[in-house]
Amino acid sequence: MNSPVWHPYAHLKTQQPAPKVIGGQGANFYLDSGETLLDATCSWWCMIHGYGHPRLVAAIREQAGELCHVMLGGLTHDPAERLARELVRITPPGLDHVFFSDSGSVGMEVAMKMAVQYHYLQDKPNKHRLLSLMKAYHGDTMGCMAVCDPEEGMHALFAGVLPRQHFAPSPRADFDAGPEEVQADLDALRRILECRHHEIAALTMEPLLQAAGGLNMTSPHYLHGARELCDEFDVLLIFDEVATGFGRTGRMFAAEHAGVSPDIMVLSKGLTGGYLGHAATLATGRVHDAFIGDSALHAFMHGPTFMGNPLACRVALESLAVFEDEDYLGRIARLNRVLHDELFLDATLRAHPAVADVRVLGATAVIEVTEAAALKGVAAFARRQGVWLRPFGHWLYTMPAYITSEDEMRRITEAMKAWFR
Ligand SMILES: *Cc1c(COP(=O)(O)O)cnc(C)c1O
Repeated sequence: MNSPVWHPYAHLKTQQPAPKVIGGQGANFYLDSGETLLDATCSWWCMIHGYGHPRLVAAIREQAGELCHVMLGGLTHDPAERLARELVRITPPGLDHVFFSDSGSVGMEVAMKMAVQYHYLQDKPNKHRLLSLMKAYHGDTMGCMAVCDPEEGMHALFAGVLPRQHFAPSPRADFDAGPEEVQADLDALRRILECRHHEIAALTMEPLLQAAGGLNMTSPHYLHGARELCDEFDVLLIFDEVATGFGRTGRMFAAEHAGVSPDIMVLSKGLTGGYLGHAATLATGRVHDAFIGDSALHAFMHGPTFMGNPLACRVALESLAVFEDEDYLGRIARLNRVLHDELFLDATLRAHPAVADVRVLGATAVIEVTEAAALKGVAAFARRQGVWLRPFGHWLYTMPAYITSEDEMRRITEAMKAWFR
């Protein structure tokens, strides 16, 4: 019998039946076929503690016995209060206010709406557009699609119905680039801001690592320069750290590499360790305080039903505690070393005619190929070796759970390299 489940991003005519997952432990999940697969992607980058983590599971169980859900409209509860405080503590300085929602896309919608309303409340209603970057990915809802790369992105078909936003070129200088090398990227940003700043509310970016748009990496100096440009042109800076947050780039947040604080920052994916859907949009006092005023228009009219869900907040608190107790940044550094040695330094891999580039940052590595066809069949190939890889477009990547052992990490890099032999 055909399944009524409609799978994401699937071509219905050619899709294969989806393997059925019945459980998981650590970096592995189990299929009903008896196979055990080592997850190289930690389930779209969110299961940072792997599967079945006892502390996270216990936190959910315990919270479920106390309070599963209550609206945040006019009410509050300990898990939301404590998580908000923790997020303010660990994020870059100045981000002192937390608006919860239920997914990364909605967290970004909240950020963009907040930025537009901020300028409206400053008597600058014309500053209502967004400036994004080519190769950006910020989510699949209508507002988010409008700030995803309009050409390479997967939403081109909707171009006619989406609001028109502005786009700057995606940064080309790589992670190690110095201030001179990012100048061309910053000049491109400046040119757009110079002509359009009067209508731009905010610059949105995935700092350092444009993830779903092709794992494009750039330099902390670019973030620095972008911050200065935003200040110069009275444009808010929104960091979408949905993918980069919680250690993925080697620091807790990508912003830390540059010592830059955005005006608004969005967190999701790793926030709950992937155990429940949730998101947080953090704002500075300057943004928040603009909403203090007498008119009805000063209220921020947004409120997802499940914002601040107690189960999600509670497991997020436990996730953060495990992150610190078990020195995850140290684990990420060790995984980074394996990725660097096994992929980045592999001259044979880099010289392969199908390979265009190999990049590594934190617990992220990607082999970019010149033709997408070069990756056809790689997922099935890896599965035969007990590894779950899910390449997209030109990119064969890994973003492992941080509890992945160094041996497991090598099994993943081995499966990636074996494909090119
Ligand atoms: C995944 C992702 C989103 C969307 O998050 P969802 O929870 O899937 O809605 C937004 N921004 C970035 C950078 C992401 O990687």
